[in-house]
Amino acid sequence: MNSPAQCEVCNRLAADYEAATMEWFRVQGQLRIAEYSRDENASNRIISQLSDIAERRHSLRNARDQHELEQHPQTRCAGS
Ligand SMILES: [Zn+2]
Repeated sequence: MNSPAQCEVCNRLAADYEAATMEWFRVQGQLRIAEYSRDENASNRIISQLSDIAERRHSLRNARDQHELEQHPQTRCAGS
């Protein structure tokens, strides 16, 4: 069977999503520092970076949903 655990695409999408999540938290930490030091230029730059990352996470999640729907429909709604 074509199980998601053995699927290369699933693994790649999950890894990319996790990496984007880690990056988001890292950049969020930088934002806190920039705001603390009242560095407005840095804050603005970091905020736009955060929105890029958020967009990437969103599209990775969509890609994963789409892929699961097409390749692993039997695993939808299984567990939580
Ligand atoms: Zn898959």
